[in-house]
Amino acid sequence: MSKTLSAIIAGGGLGGLATAAAMAQRGWDVTVYERQSALRASGSGIYIWENGLRVLEALGAYDDAVRGAFEGRAFEQRDKHGGVIDSAPVGAGKRLITVKRSQLLDALRDTALRAGVKVVTSSEVIGATPRGELRFANGDVARADLAVGVDGIWSRVREALGLETFHQQTAEGALRTVIERRPGDIPADDAGKYIENWNAERRLLITPINETQIYLALTCPERDRAARDTQIDKALWSDAFPRWAHLIERIGAEVSWGVYSIIQCSAWSAGRTAILGDAAHAQPPNLGQGGGMAMQNGLALACALDGIERAEAIPAALEAWEARERPLIDHCQKWSTLYGEVAFLPDEVRTSTIRAAMAHPWVIEQINRAAHHVPTGTGERARSVSLL
Ligand SMILES: Cc1cc2nc3c(=O)[nH]c(=O)nc-3n(C[C@H](O)[C@H](O)[C@H](O)COP(=O)(O)OP(=O)(O)OC[C@H]3O[C@@H](n4cnc5c(N)ncnc54)[C@H](O)[C@@H]3O)c2cc1C
Repeated sequence: MSKTLSAIIAGGGLGGLATAAAMAQRGWDVTVYERQSALRASGSGIYIWENGLRVLEALGAYDDAVRGAFEGRAFEQRDKHGGVIDSAPVGAGKRLITVKRSQLLDALRDTALRAGVKVVTSSEVIGATPRGELRFANGDVARADLAVGVDGIWSRVREALGLETFHQQTAEGALRTVIERRPGDIPADDAGKYIENWNAERRLLITPINETQIYLALTCPERDRAARDTQIDKALWSDAFPRWAHLIERIGAEVSWGVYSIIQCSAWSAGRTAILGDAAHAQPPNLGQGGGMAMQNGLALACALDGIERAEAIPAALEAWEARERPLIDHCQKWSTLYGEVAFLPDEVRTSTIRAAMAHPWVIEQINRAAHHVPTGTGERARSVSLL
């Protein structure tokens, strides 16, 4: 690149930091603007599948992101009697790692800073233009060759560009928390498993994230007011999942509740301003891929712009980026949404539906397609870039 091109990024979450690091590693002058007073992730856990792990490797964030993390070997679904509905091994040669969110975010932040990214906190973006401009709540305007909105579900960048075509909030949501992990918490037979337990419209997902902590997601419809109270009704949840009452009993005060968003856009860019991550393609968490897609698409964006020498070439490169990356991300969103539909079936119907679906190789292929995808920029060349 003869002239150093500049990028300004709204949002310092998983997608924003991955994008920033990948662009700075390719010679861009990058600044991230984050609304919060510090780069901060909530305390719960996150699943990172093979595709996301490959992105972390390409960025040089892998070691810090997964140090001490839990590597599962199977994902098991159980009915209200504890019977196994389905047990799906993590595919041979494919990894699935679960880790505390803050550890992942810290690893991406450190990688971005090492690459020279500047981070400005307490900086709220309220608008954008297709000319690579971000507008801030304090009246400031920042201009660059490229602007990127990675500002989450309620993206002001997406709104300002008028790109949204669909935004649905789901009827279901999750209470999320992290508890202390103690010896004997998980029976020896279940070591190495992620266990999702169903009882009517309530479910409990048990996810070890390291040697000392377990991430719990307690899921129910938003209308289930008793179950979704963040002052967890431990008797109610223990009654639904008596085998796991010892974990539920340990839930502390730090619990978050939220429903999910499904977002689709007419395009991921306008002129020299792009959007990605939840801002552009939020999906329900049923496949554990929203963060993976955000990081993957950030790296892909940087690859699409690699070698560009003039700002005038950016709009066409952004269109090519979307054409290349969107089919997989749309597919993943569709299947994550579809997967969630079983939540509202009666128990017996859900059990037979899941068993019939998971017995079919075609269904397994659809569900695993994103996890088994080799993301743009995660080949040998990208790895050598991250080692520079
Ligand atoms: C219950 C649940 C479980 C999930 N589990 C998984 C999982 O296991 N695996 C997985 O891969 N994904 C999972 N996801 C999805 C994942 O959390 C998101 O897809 C991911 O966080 C998206 O990253 P992002 O950077 O696009 O957005 P965000 O993480 O939302 O980051 C956006 C950032 O922008 C900042 N911001 C927002 N507005 C502004 C503004 N106006 N100006 C400046 N900054 C702003 C925010 O403070 C934040 O730092 C889950 C989601 C939910 C709800």
